[in-house]
Amino acid sequence: MTLRKLIEEAAAKILSAERVAAFTGAGISVESGIPPFRGKDGLWSKYDPVLFEISHFRAQPIETWRLLKEVFYNFMAKAEPNAAHRGLFQLEQMGLLKTVITQNVDNLHQKAGNTDVVEFHGTSKRLVCLDCLSSYNYADIEEHVTDMPPLCLACRGILKPDFVFFGEGIPPKALQRSFMEAMLADLFLVIGTTGEVYPAALVPIQAKQKGTVIIEINPEPTAFTGQITDIFLQGKSAQIVSELMDQIAMVRSKTR
Ligand SMILES: [Zn+2]
Repeated sequence: MTLRKLIEEAAAKILSAERVAAFTGAGISVESGIPPFRGKDGLWSKYDPVLFEISHFRAQPIETWRLLKEVFYNFMAKAEPNAAHRGLFQLEQMGLLKTVITQNVDNLHQKAGNTDVVEFHGTSKRLVCLDCLSSYNYADIEEHVTDMPPLCLACRGILKPDFVFFGEGIPPKALQRSFMEAMLADLFLVIGTTGEVYPAALVPIQAKQKGTVIIEINPEPTAFTGQITDIFLQGKSAQIVSELMDQIAMVRSKTR
């Protein structure tokens, strides 16, 4: 089937679904200039993943913080949502999308306007103290983050981004909400994620097991494609989501 036909079919399924959730990963933010972790140009091809092990961070926080500043905070805060993020906001506004479950820590779904975002791996926007668990909005204390490592204003403990490092568990609330959504949604939009990171990949797999329709948008086939995907829309997420939104808007305007 041609991509055009597949987009029409996907749009029809979204329009007739009762409850739609989006499940997103690094691929959706690449076009906003945020480098992915995995793959050829991913961060792990340039940096040692050990820097993101919690035990290493506790022992050598300055080393990891230099990387955090360079790779995350110097530009992630300035990154803007792209057409794929904006499309998902439009879908929510149309009453066709309930929840976004994201593995990203870049805050771009919230910046685009989505109101129900589950951050499976936490967020870079918040910093949390390893000692007293006080938390801070990065933007509010940015001026204090020039000292390495940045320290808690309350107890001088070391501050860590509130996202999941290797060796740490998934935030329980995010885990619970994601799997609840996998039970409740009847359609999942899987965008920009290859299904290689666990336990995150289990969310759409569990949804599929109870009969949820899986629409996947990725530039190349992934671990999901032959396994759980019902409709595979191949291409960059910004382009495909835009085409999908145009199709949904057109069908809606005809049926009103
Ligand atoms: Zn503290």
